[in-house]
Amino acid sequence: MAETTAKGRKSRSAGRFGVRYGTKNRKLVADIEEKMHAEYTCSKCGAKKIKRTGTGIWQCTKCMHTFAGGSYVPQTAAHTTVLRAVQGEKILISEKAQAAGT
Ligand SMILES: [Zn+2]
Repeated sequence: MAETTAKGRKSRSAGRFGVRYGTKNRKLVADIEEKMHAEYTCSKCGAKKIKRTGTGIWQCTKCMHTFAGGSYVPQTAAHTTVLRAVQGEKILISEKAQAAGT
């Protein structure tokens, strides 16, 4: 436990489980918790203060902006795909409006 070098510290945050639950499961938990506790930027105020308050619920501790996201990460791959589609739709609509206006 007093080890400070990277060598011998494989369990990371899953070290609290001791020798229980198997290597693979401890590794999965550690990987997820690393992503969960990483610094994420708030889309509203730009502060790196995003915290997970529940499954899929994320909150900025600075401006209290609350939003839905992934279970363990604020933004998933599916989220970016949907955003891109919505952005494309918006561009199409604005182009149509411009064509109708002129
Ligand atoms: Zn914020």
